[in-house]
Amino acid sequence: MADEQSTTTAEDAQVEERTFQTEVQQVLQILIHSLYTDKDVFLRELVSNASDALDKIRFQSLTDKDIVDPDADLTVDISIDATAKTLTIRDTGIGMTRDEVNANIGTIAHSGSRQFLQKLSEETNEENKLKLIGQFGVGFYSVFIVAERVVVTTRSADKEADAVIWESTGDGTYTISTTKNKIARGTEIKIYVRSDCEEYLDAHRLEGVVRRHSDFVSYPVKVAGKQANSASALWTRPRNEITAEHYTEFYQHLSGDHQQPLAWEHVAVDVPIQFYAVLFLPQQSPMELLFGQDPKVKINLHVKRVFIQDDCELLPLYLRFVRGVVDCDDLPLNVARESLQNSPVIAKIRQTLTRRVLNKIEDLANKEPAKFLTFWESFGIVLKEGVARDFDHREQVSKLLRFFSSFSAKLAADAAADAAVPAVATEAGGDDAADKATPERTTATEGLVALQDYIDRLKENQDVIYYVGGDNRQQVEQSPLMEPFRKHDLEVLYLTDPVDEWVVNSLQDFDGKRFQAIDAEDLDLPEDARIEGAESGQDKERTIELVSFLKKELASRVGEVKESGRLSDSPCALVVPKGGLSQQMERLIRMSDQNFPITKRTLEINPRHAAIRNMGELLKADRNSDELKEWSHFLVDYVLLAEGKVESPERVMAQIQKMMSVSSEAALKARDK
Ligand code: ADP
Repeated sequence: MADEQSTTTAEDAQVEERTFQTEVQQVLQILIHSLYTDKDVFLRELVSNASDALDKIRFQSLTDKDIVDPDADLTVDISIDATAKTLTIRDTGIGMTRDEVNANIGTIAHSGSRQFLQKLSEETNEENKLKLIGQFGVGFYSVFIVAERVVVTTRSADKEADAVIWESTGDGTYTISTTKNKIARGTEIKIYVRSDCEEYLDAHRLEGVVRRHSDFVSYPVKVAGKQANSASALWTRPRNEITAEHYTEFYQHLSGDHQQPLAWEHVAVDVPIQFYAVLFLPQQSPMELLFGQDPKVKINLHVKRVFIQDDCELLPLYLRFVRGVVDCDDLPLNVARESLQNSPVIAKIRQTLTRRVLNKIEDLANKEPAKFLTFWESFGIVLKEGVARDFDHREQVSKLLRFFSSFSAKLAADAAADAAVPAVATEAGGDDAADKATPERTTATEGLVALQDYIDRLKENQDVIYYVGGDNRQQVEQSPLMEPFRKHDLEVLYLTDPVDEWVVNSLQDFDGKRFQAIDAEDLDLPEDARIEGAESGQDKERTIELVSFLKKELASRVGEVKESGRLSDSPCALVVPKGGLSQQMERLIRMSDQNFPITKRTLEINPRHAAIRNMGELLKADRNSDELKEWSHFLVDYVLLAEGKVESPERVMAQIQKMMSVSSEAALKARDK
């Protein structure tokens, strides 16, 4: 709600002056004081609002004839008064009541403006700021790009409601009043055009803007009485007549996004159900759309060109990043919301569209790796849900998954080198070579790995897909558990998204190969990667004693202690006992159930490491050594430190401090010798 400032209630008019919500004021400041690079945006936004208002009344009048002006033509009229220097945009849409005006224009409920402000506040570079301002339309407020003053007169379709007059110069306040005059239904926006924007008082100029930005609006948009758009629904037009610009404009109108779409798919189906669809993959989506409280599939459903609703389940939820429209001839116009939910027609459409979207993504993966990378970075995390949630398409989705692996750095370097190879030097090839100097970012240059790539590189005798879960690449990369894999050149997938292990657990295998966590206690390494304990009887005995000592000393922190058959350079590692949950899965579950018990892991020690050997010797000499106890705990802390999960930093720091003193003293002594 807008903040109320003062109310001067005149008997009939009830004139009120109100201040805009703070955020609105910020947006207005920016609009009025910045050099807006693409001023045309304002007209697109206003026509788009008018078109929405017409959609709403058309839908309502399907079932409700008891409205103001039930037979009015549905149009948008743009007129110019050159003498008064005003531009007026009038629609016969649903109009607004006084409360609606206050709620809709005066506050910043809609996400576009909020997203705009957020992006703007994150941007520090002035030039980029200007660019941002040029890209975003901020709905109704865009009017202040060209307006000195704006008067909105609106009459709701609701017969009980009076017409409302809203007026502002965009300087922080607006006035609102009511009139008993029986004006026609809809909304009129009268713009007193700023002196530096008088180009918009030229009908030719306006026609051009409408044709370019609003051609697909399905109602006639007239400039000075003459229709300027083709007013046919884009999706019903023959595909070969639609240009990339048309699709882009349509996408922007539909989504409120001001970037180009990444890709689109135009579907026209006749049997068994007749429907059209135009679906878009955006480059990015606001987080709240993907991960808000109650995420929804945002596809507009039309029935025989009439807009019905915008949140019908026309795609499974894991494809909720897709935007678009569906228009079906085989649904009744007065279809009820509830019956849509179980409609076999909708189910059939969903089936077709799911396949088309997944095919489109697969196409990008195969033919346009740069676009696929953009897609994957924006929506990979959402798409992954499909593996666990859509059994029918599990296999197809699993082929689209990409991961980093222990081979990524090398793969990325190779791909970058390949891409940077200058074209064969011809005389004209000079530019070409320069172009290739900085290769385009693709899934290959990033070193992203598809499961099929992994399978294609399997070592002889390797019959599982190794993976390690963790918070990020750096962390898993330097895990002691990676040792045998690095040594034997075995590829390990890095599962660093919180949902990754959930995803591979539900997949279970790929191409007949099982997924195997490398931190499993019962990990079965290929024969040549196993380390046999070639120790003399004395060493063996020392290790057995240390193991039983550590078991007792660390009973509260680890479930079991064992000699390691995989470590060669690191002193120890923590592994997950059979039947236990990995750290990532545990964290995922604990997000919804905080009382979920923590699995105690098994500590593996490497008897070949000097520190472990020394601890064993010390144990033999003095079973009650305090230092031995401290080191025992430090073995666990050492692993937790690498995982970024130290439980009590003060203990670890005290230990490290001690070690610093001891080793610096040793260094000094060595010098003195
Ligand atoms: P958005 O269109 O993104 O919601 P706007 O700032 O453009 O944001 O408009 C805010 C709201 O004002 C709209 O959602 C709509 O409810 C209302 N509105 C704007 N223009 C009109 C109009 N011409 N007729 C009826 N309602 C309108």
